[in-house]
Amino acid sequence: MTAMEALPLRPELRGRSPYGAPQPPAEHRLNTNENPHPLPPALLADLQVALAEAASGLNRYPDRDATALRADLAGYLTRTSGEQVEPAQVWAANGSNEVLQQVLQTFGGAGRTALGFTPSYSMHPILSAGTGTAWVDGHRRPDFTIDPAAAAAQVREVRPDVVFVTSPNNPTGTAVELDTIAALYEATSYDDGAGVLVVDEAYTEFARTGTVSALSLLPGRPRLIVSRTMSKAFGMAGLRLGYLAADAGVVEALQLVRLPYHLSSLTQAAARAALAHTEQLLATVDLVRAERDRIVEALPGMGLTSVPSDANFVLFGHFADAGAAWQALLDRGVLVRDVGLPGWLRVTAGTTEETDAFLTALGEVAPAHR
Ligand code: PMP
Repeated sequence: MTAMEALPLRPELRGRSPYGAPQPPAEHRLNTNENPHPLPPALLADLQVALAEAASGLNRYPDRDATALRADLAGYLTRTSGEQVEPAQVWAANGSNEVLQQVLQTFGGAGRTALGFTPSYSMHPILSAGTGTAWVDGHRRPDFTIDPAAAAAQVREVRPDVVFVTSPNNPTGTAVELDTIAALYEATSYDDGAGVLVVDEAYTEFARTGTVSALSLLPGRPRLIVSRTMSKAFGMAGLRLGYLAADAGVVEALQLVRLPYHLSSLTQAAARAALAHTEQLLATVDLVRAERDRIVEALPGMGLTSVPSDANFVLFGHFADAGAAWQALLDRGVLVRDVGLPGWLRVTAGTTEETDAFLTALGEVAPAHR
């Protein structure tokens, strides 16, 4: 095999590694923020019917505009947020990763800049590199919250074409207040142009009471984009279905870069079947939230702490050597994520049994590693 570096790679890809954490075998896999609860049997039965029906039409291209699916997604957003979201304001693709890539293809690209507040979802800079968009790290406070005035000032100075805010943030779990998002949106209006503001809400369904989605800010903000996914709360990571809500003009602009027929008829049919079972699927969210809170509450008793989390995971520490603590947990059959933040590790909240296994292992590991 030819070494990658010996190939005529684009300069911005040289020296980079593909996204992905180590996946060593482990009894308890708490490293990728999936929902561990199996799909309800009634949905599995409906999926078989829906997929068989879609399969009978596979000689034809899918609905290029995913019209019915977008109407279902708009219905879900309207029902759960109390904000009226029209189908023309919704766009869907293969995971929110593809949605975000399309946003960068449309509003970023060569000679343009994206900014995100690190530490955050590491795919944002990777997607930027893949689309030739320059990347600038935005700043957070030491407690991982965003200082609205400092963040807005940084945006005004850098004048990015695309700004990412992840709320709740991965890997810290930190939710961003609506006032901060509104201030960032204002800051993306420059005297000779403007940027788009993308709020990545992949984990929003897990938020604690009182944390509000940025959907409520959409009216009157034509450059605001709210990105969502069915991979987390819906427990459908294998489906690959992400979506966004924005001004209908943004959705129209995305048509310039989307591949024709990007969303297969099987994906569209499966996603619609799942959305018809929204209530049962989201019933697991309360269970996961309870496990997250149980993890948070158990940490001080072990001499550990966590970052307040609105997501289905917890950033916990503080360890003298996070890598050594990660290995010690793995030695006990528990795989968590070392996100490269000195002193911290991230654990996904899942089933009661998983939390039990994690807390037992952590109880053994903590004394030697904190
Ligand atoms: N945004 C964030 C913040 C994430 O953590 C993830 C998944 N790890 C995604 C987007 C992408 O999810 P998907 O492509 O499965 O929708």
